[in-house]
Amino acid sequence: MEEKKYDIIIVGSGLGGLVCGYILSKNGYNTCIVEKNKQIGGCLQTFTRGGIKFDTGMHYIGSMEETQILYRFFRYLNLLDVPLSRLDNLGYDVISIGGEKYKYASGFDNFIETLSEKFPDNIADIKEYVRRIREIADASPLYKLQEINSNVFIEADYIKTSVNEFIESVTENKRLQSVLTGILPLYAGVKNKTPTYIHALINNFYIQSAWRIIGGSDKIAKSLAKSIKSFGGEILTNSEVVEFVCNETKTTSVKLKDGRELKADYFISNIHPQVMMEKIQTKIIRKAYCERIAGLENTISNFTVFLKFKKDKLPYLNYNFYYYENENIWETTDYDEKLWPESFLYMHQISDNNTIFAESAQIIGYMRFDEVKKWENTIVGKRGKEYEKFKQEKAKLLIDKLEKSFPGTKDAIEFYYTSSPLTYRDYTATKNGSLYGIIRDKNFPIQTLVSQRTKIPNLLMTGQNINSHGVLGVIIGAMITCAEFLGMNHIIRDIDNSNS
Ligand SMILES: Cc1cc2nc3c(=O)[nH]c(=O)nc-3n(C[C@H](O)[C@H](O)[C@H](O)COP(=O)(O)OP(=O)(O)OC[C@H]3O[C@@H](n4cnc5c(N)ncnc54)[C@H](O)[C@@H]3O)c2cc1C
Repeated sequence: MEEKKYDIIIVGSGLGGLVCGYILSKNGYNTCIVEKNKQIGGCLQTFTRGGIKFDTGMHYIGSMEETQILYRFFRYLNLLDVPLSRLDNLGYDVISIGGEKYKYASGFDNFIETLSEKFPDNIADIKEYVRRIREIADASPLYKLQEINSNVFIEADYIKTSVNEFIESVTENKRLQSVLTGILPLYAGVKNKTPTYIHALINNFYIQSAWRIIGGSDKIAKSLAKSIKSFGGEILTNSEVVEFVCNETKTTSVKLKDGRELKADYFISNIHPQVMMEKIQTKIIRKAYCERIAGLENTISNFTVFLKFKKDKLPYLNYNFYYYENENIWETTDYDEKLWPESFLYMHQISDNNTIFAESAQIIGYMRFDEVKKWENTIVGKRGKEYEKFKQEKAKLLIDKLEKSFPGTKDAIEFYYTSSPLTYRDYTATKNGSLYGIIRDKNFPIQTLVSQRTKIPNLLMTGQNINSHGVLGVIIGAMITCAEFLGMNHIIRDIDNSNS
């Protein structure tokens, strides 16, 4: 019998891998997605404890009103059956700085009006901020699904200025600067490095409308998988790729941990580029390229406390709560361990349409990998007592801080569960459990930009390190990868047609 050969093998079933699988199998390619875990989805994975399903990565999404950008993508991806619950229009995100609270309201006008009430002397600044983030989004053709004539997706000016420079250029009011920087955990930005466009595209996306996924982000992964299979694609779980096998000119197969070898004409890697490079032995790629990729810095990781509340005890919060001890928001990623946590993100989850009481929530704090490095050679569930003690202490610190902002929460907790940078590293194979992958640096825009093309002609990349992270960034990144096969304007027309 002739050995099976796919048109395209996609390594990793994160959002990027699944969207590529969807687009390419819909367009007639014989695709196979190969996932190391039992569960597909990467950061869309969920886990269940005490009957409660917890999200691990994607918590909230934006621009899902009809005609808004994510809605148009979701329609094309047949994802409109994923149930959503709208966050509070009057304040979907609340930024708390030193105990003072500031609301981000939905809709550009409401956003301006609500913040203006807190900053009556800076109304012009707030308007200018909104004007400029809209201008940046409008200048990015892929974020408007406009057909393109060049490979320039983001204007150079927004790549070469940092977020802090941008915000400082909009207002001199320090408190307003901090409030506008408040969504920092959504991209784990670094002062004087993270380019403006990352902040602008994310805030522009959420201001338009913000939503929680009812019942877990795995619904996105499951729906995409169902569609991929209906187009004839295959998805293999429990199938870790240990090597991209190359001959003199190209990749010929992937070797799996269990000894299987799968062949294809093309390969797309949805795994972290540094992790991918460790699995390739070839002379096709020059040493300089390997060193450049290996030398790229990653965004910080996180420590999360997953809370289950006692029944009907705690009112449901229909907003996300960004806590900062003080105005030094840019210093929160470079925290002092003794003062940790000086910031966190608190979010309730929603499992059905019950929006009266909260069932569960998460507290997410930044954490550097070095804090857990001594357990780096251990595996999930077997990291030892000292590690468990470490996690208990950290969880207590976060819960105690939360209690100060929301008195009574502690009493309402039935149980909690924690994850550390090691958990993220082991479940998604992201380098050092990094939240969002490689840091883009406005000082080295070309060097820190990872192309969808590798130096191997039939090996491409996708996922959060291409283009950008998050639901929108990764979907657009997948389009960029698939455009190598189909052409960008073909994909854009297809999305347009599915929306007409
Ligand atoms: C804590 C947290 C909160 C977030 N919150 C939000 C949010 O609210 N909204 C939002 O839009 N975004 C959010 N994000 C970002 C978003 O979830 C990610 O950017 C996105 O899901 C990443 O997708 P990806 O395609 O890059 O793949 P990943 O999710 O990284 O998946 C990669 C996949 O590859 C698999 N893999 C790795 N190595 C191998 C191998 N050797 N063989 C086979 N398979 C392999 C992994 O198991 C995994 O399934 C959050 C991220 C985190 C970490």
